[in-house]
Amino acid sequence: MNSNYLQTPITYLKGVGPNRADLLGSELGISTYQDLLNLFPNRHIDRTQFYKINQLERSNADIQIIGKIIHIKTVAQKRGSRLVAKFIDDTGEMELVWFRSQKWIRENLKLNTPYVVFGRVNWYNGKFSMAHPEMEILKNQQPAKRLRMQPVYPSTEKLSNSGVTNRMISKFVLQLFEETGGLFQETLAPDILDTLKLVPKRVALRAIHFPDSQEELARARFRLKFEELFFIQLQLLMKKQRRQQKIRGFNFEKVGDLFNGFYEEHLPFELTSAQKKVLREIRADLGSNAQMNRLLQGDVGSGKTIVALMSMLLAIDNGYQACLMAPTEILANQHYNSLKELLGSLKVSIELLTGSTRKSDRKRIHEALENGELHILIGTHAVLEDKVVFKNLGLAIVDEQHRFGVAQRSRLWHKNATPPHILVMTATPIPRTLAMSLYGDLDISVIDELPPGRKPVKTVHRFDQNRLKVFQFIRDEIKKGRQVYVVYPLIKESEALDYKDLMDGYESIARDFPMPDYQISIVHGQMKSDAKDYEMNRFIRGETQIMVATTVIEVGVNIPNASVMIIESAERFGLSQLHQLRGRVGRGAEQSYCILMTGFKLSSEAKTRLETMVATNDGFEIAEVDLKLRGPGDLMGTQQSGLLQLKIADIIKDSDILNTARFYAKKVLEQDPLLEMDQHRSVRQAYSEITKHKNIWTYIS
Ligand code: ADP
Ligand code: MG
Repeated sequence: MNSNYLQTPITYLKGVGPNRADLLGSELGISTYQDLLNLFPNRHIDRTQFYKINQLERSNADIQIIGKIIHIKTVAQKRGSRLVAKFIDDTGEMELVWFRSQKWIRENLKLNTPYVVFGRVNWYNGKFSMAHPEMEILKNQQPAKRLRMQPVYPSTEKLSNSGVTNRMISKFVLQLFEETGGLFQETLAPDILDTLKLVPKRVALRAIHFPDSQEELARARFRLKFEELFFIQLQLLMKKQRRQQKIRGFNFEKVGDLFNGFYEEHLPFELTSAQKKVLREIRADLGSNAQMNRLLQGDVGSGKTIVALMSMLLAIDNGYQACLMAPTEILANQHYNSLKELLGSLKVSIELLTGSTRKSDRKRIHEALENGELHILIGTHAVLEDKVVFKNLGLAIVDEQHRFGVAQRSRLWHKNATPPHILVMTATPIPRTLAMSLYGDLDISVIDELPPGRKPVKTVHRFDQNRLKVFQFIRDEIKKGRQVYVVYPLIKESEALDYKDLMDGYESIARDFPMPDYQISIVHGQMKSDAKDYEMNRFIRGETQIMVATTVIEVGVNIPNASVMIIESAERFGLSQLHQLRGRVGRGAEQSYCILMTGFKLSSEAKTRLETMVATNDGFEIAEVDLKLRGPGDLMGTQQSGLLQLKIADIIKDSDILNTARFYAKKVLEQDPLLEMDQHRSVRQAYSEITKHKNIWTYIS
């Protein structure tokens, strides 16, 4: 089948016409033959199976039973009457009921004759019944003429109200098979089809709509899922391959004085073996002549900052500049301060550039960047502005990547003629399966070990009623010299109320922890940024003992002396957010605590979240639970990718197929990097079709 033919506007399909075409377009996004072909049914009504009356359950829908009517009568009811038939098979009896067309039915139904009845089962007055069943005399049935598995397509109210029913859509699809002859081109290579025993494309497409049996449907689904995942993986791998072949990167040949000097004299602690492993991986990339694109995953507190710094030293050792971007000013500030401290007396110039950098400083920084005097620039989005020009940016690091949009990340590429090496750091643990499909074209490093001596944060769940005990606990901790966070939810939809909760909470804490014995900071989104910084810095310097805040403090802040995290209305936070917040404590040598406060009324999902938090500190485990609860579409940072809007496969449930697909995509490319071989002709054609008609793949870089 010629692929151009499949791009024919749907309006030209027999029976559709302009009005219905409009509806199909606006309601289901169908504008071409191809789109309709790819409108896979949600499910099928299985008319290959027959039920016995004693197998019925109260919720059975769309099922069929063979039996006969032995008795029929009209029963008077409040308004009008109903027709009730006693229907039996060899296992029991049930009722068939009609409210409309009673006369006609009564005259035409045959007693004691085997029928196939089809419909939805109800439980009424202690009996199973079926209202207005479809009926057919058993011996008149012509199985071949009827669809034995009827597709049920996605629909909307507007569609069915406008008469575009499931039956009609199903007719259109059949029509499409007739017009096209059903000869859809194969997209996979013969040897893959052979080895995996996949059904051919044309067979799969017919069977996904109109299968003859459950087995045929299952084979079709498998084939189409594999195909979908295979082409995604192929694209990611092609991209990676292109990058490695064509995108030359700066070659950081040597490990120089700065790196060595830092390692030998300034390193404040022994690196964990995970940090060393990751540094080796980064080092190998930087010296490979190809541009690095690496994702560094490490749970909160795992020590990503030092890895970032040492990577930047490698860049400077080789005569290049480096920059580090953070999503908020507070974080950028903190990075700046901690890096400065780590660098100590080393001869490295470092500056901070954010939205609130003064104009005169800005000018100086711009100049130093352009003439190469400045080695390291730390900043927020401000770094991306066109005015910011580097002499030779060699390495760009993005911290807490999920707060940055994809587009912003890609702007880093264009800071030089030769794109800099890019390291993306995230504390949002992404389960392996998902990471592979989302970032298949990034290399992934994982710091899977916390620095030694860390005591896992003790997490408990407390009800609001026990607040007094919690306050006493806070007092005890503060007496020991510790600091405490109290975090309130702030959800856009209920912003005003949330601010009220925050202020009420602040007042009640201020009453229970009066000055001058206690000092309290407060930080929230409605404050001006200097006010925020002022309050934040008082807490960082230890001048205040309690920090009352919304989630603005969620990301990255490092205050080792803070040992208690109280999360108010904890049931309103998502799992990954709770985990991020908890990561703010447990950064020093002391035992830290996380207290999740809630009322008594909790949904079962909220309970699961709280229980998970209490049970584990492992970010990856938490991410897996989160994924199960919310599905991948909601996972932080994945919405924007578009990658998870799959037609048929499910990245989580079909992870086995995903792995297989990746294996074969790799194998094909190893053998034939440009898909030039004859045996890959079908793959090549399908690939170019996909890349021509879709561009959701532009999501990274
Ligand atoms: P994150 O990965 O969340 O960004 P940081 O880089 O902020 O973590 O590190 C958290 C804390 O752990 C910091 O105080 C840092 O100095 C400390 N740290 C990092 N690596 C080590 C190590 N190998 N040994 C001891 N402490 C470390
Ligand atoms: Mg960090």
